[in-house]
Amino acid sequence: STGLMAGKRGLIMGLANDKSIAWGIAKALADHGAEMAFSYQGEALKKRVEPLAASIGTPKLFECDVTDEASMDAMFAALKADWGKIDFLVHAIGFSDKAELRGRYVDTTRQNFLMTMDISVYSFTAVCQRAAAMMPDGGSLLTLTYYGAEKVMPHYNVMGLAKAALESSVKYIAEDLGKDGIRVNAISAGPIKTLAASGIGDFRYIMKWNELNSPLRRNVTQEEVGKAALYLLSDLGSGTTGENLHVDAGYHVVGMKAVDAPDI
Ligand code: NAD
Repeated sequence: STGLMAGKRGLIMGLANDKSIAWGIAKALADHGAEMAFSYQGEALKKRVEPLAASIGTPKLFECDVTDEASMDAMFAALKADWGKIDFLVHAIGFSDKAELRGRYVDTTRQNFLMTMDISVYSFTAVCQRAAAMMPDGGSLLTLTYYGAEKVMPHYNVMGLAKAALESSVKYIAEDLGKDGIRVNAISAGPIKTLAASGIGDFRYIMKWNELNSPLRRNVTQEEVGKAALYLLSDLGSGTTGENLHVDAGYHVVGMKAVDAPDI
């Protein structure tokens, strides 16, 4: 441990199980001395989240559905009563109807479009409002995004639009909160096998494609996203805000990969 996060307290939202990107981030932060609280969605996830949180010495768990303003207010009020202030927040939350994460984007329904935007985009703004009010000495806010915001990826569909809006919101919120010493960034992670990812059509193929075509010729791990989060959430990232940091084995820079075999 470097002690980089020593004395820092924050909230991790979006822990579902030990495959969650939120867990990769939490482990990295714990290794460097952070104290964390966790939120999870719905009672069903509690039995998975409880032992994970306990393993890094955190008894602070909140049930919070981001579509429910009252449940968010209650969580932040409880955190405020207990800690007074926080130094960082991780938003690792996204959702869309599985039935629309395959086939054509153009067939998206109004109902699922609005729900996807609410859970995957507005929720970050909603938590930033509440977290910023608990950051009198500045802080760092982080969300997770994907390359499907920038370019068309198969099956990502309405999530691609949501991530584009999320990335744009990171820039606007960075400007709004910058004068209060609060930094706002995103990590654009390469494909990682998680619960949310399993809802995306042909996800195994997407992972294989990334492995074969990224500059590093492999996929990234939950731990690598954790290390990048450590940079953005600690003092190492003190000069960085409004950024979208790609942790994707370099996939986003490739227009067309050269053929590895020299004689083709
Ligand atoms: P995950 O399934 O482990 O996490 C998604 C979380 O969102 C879950 O904990 C779920 O409970 C939560 N959630 C969904 N709806 C919610 C609601 N209404 N209220 C509160 N919580 C809600 O999957 P993950 O892959 O770790 O996803 C975390 C983030 O990373 C998401 O924003 C996802 O889009 C993003 N991301 C994932 C990948 C990938 O390949 N796995 C790549 C880039 C970005």
